[in-house]
Amino acid sequence: MSPHSVPPVRGRLAPSPTGVLHLGNARSFLLAWLEARSSEGQVVLRIEDLDGPRIRSGAEEAILEDFAWLGLDWDEGPFRQRDRIAEYRAVLEAWHRAAWVYPCICTRRDIEAAASAPHRGEEGPVYPGTCRGRFPDAASAQAVSGKPPAWRFHVPSGTQVSIDDRIAGQSDFRVDEELGDFVVWKKDDEAAYQLAVVVDDIRSGINQVLRGDDLLPSAARQELLYKALHASAPEWLHVPLVVGTDGKRLAKRHGDTSLRHLRNEGYTARDVLHWCAAVSGIVLDTPANGAADLLAGYRRALIPRAPVVWQGLDGLGAS
Ligand code: GLU
Repeated sequence: MSPHSVPPVRGRLAPSPTGVLHLGNARSFLLAWLEARSSEGQVVLRIEDLDGPRIRSGAEEAILEDFAWLGLDWDEGPFRQRDRIAEYRAVLEAWHRAAWVYPCICTRRDIEAAASAPHRGEEGPVYPGTCRGRFPDAASAQAVSGKPPAWRFHVPSGTQVSIDDRIAGQSDFRVDEELGDFVVWKKDDEAAYQLAVVVDDIRSGINQVLRGDDLLPSAARQELLYKALHASAPEWLHVPLVVGTDGKRLAKRHGDTSLRHLRNEGYTARDVLHWCAAVSGIVLDTPANGAADLLAGYRRALIPRAPVVWQGLDGLGAS
C-alpha cells in the first residue's frame, strides 16, 4: 500500500443474541453491510454473547438464518465474545496497573440516590464518583461489600470528545459531566460491552462502525478506550433508529416486527428489502432478492437524518 492510499474498509455485523432480529436492527445491519460492501470492503461477524442472563438459547442461529434470508454475508467469523474472556481480563489488569480503572461497589439504587446531575438522552444517571480512589484492588472492595466489585473507567475532569460522525454529524461530549465514569467490567465478573467491543474491534482491524444512534454516547466512551489502548478509533456512522408513530424506539407495543413473524405472515425477503430501501434513500430499479441488489442504489448521503417511523405492514411490500 502506498503511504497515501486509503486502507480497505473493514466493517462488522455485531448482533447480540438476546432475541430475534426485528425491522429496526435488521435495517441497521443491512446499512452496515452496504457501507462496507459499497466500497468493496470486508465484513466481520461477531456475536456479542456476553450479556449473561439476557442471552437466549437459539437466538444466534435465528439471527444467522435471518442474515442469510436477507442475503447478508461476511468474510470472517463468527467470532464469539465468550471465547475472548482471557484477552479482556488482560486488558482490565493492564488498565488497573495504569490506574485507568477502579473497583466500584455501588448499586444502581446508590447511584440513583446520589446522582443529581442531568443526563443525556436515554442514558441513566451520571455516576457520581463515589468509589473513585476508594479501594486499591478488588479484594479490598469485596471486603466492604461482600461481593465482587464492578470496575469503572476513570474519566478525568474536563475530558472532551468530539465525534465526527459521517451520518450523525459532529457531536461534542464533555464526557466527565455528561456520561461520567463508566463500567468496563461487570459485577458478575464479565467484561462489559464498552471494553469488549473496543478490544474486539481493534483485534479484528475494524475501521468502520455503523450502528443505531442510541450508541452515539458510547462512541464517546469508546474513543477514550481506544486512546487507552493506543489505537485509532474507527470511522463512526450512527443511523437514526426506527421508531413507532409515538416517536419511541420500536418495541413490542408497536406490534411484532420480527423478521420471523413477517416471514410467517407470508412476507418475503424482497418485501423487507423493499421497505428497508424505501426508508434508507435507496432507489431500486428492479425488486431486490438479496442485499447485494441494493448496492447499486445505495448512497450514504441519502440515508435520512431523521428517525424512520414504522407505520405498520401496509407500507411494506414489493410483491
Ligand atoms: N451488539 C449490539 C447490538 O446488537 C451492537 C453493538 C455495536 O455495534 O457496537 O445492538
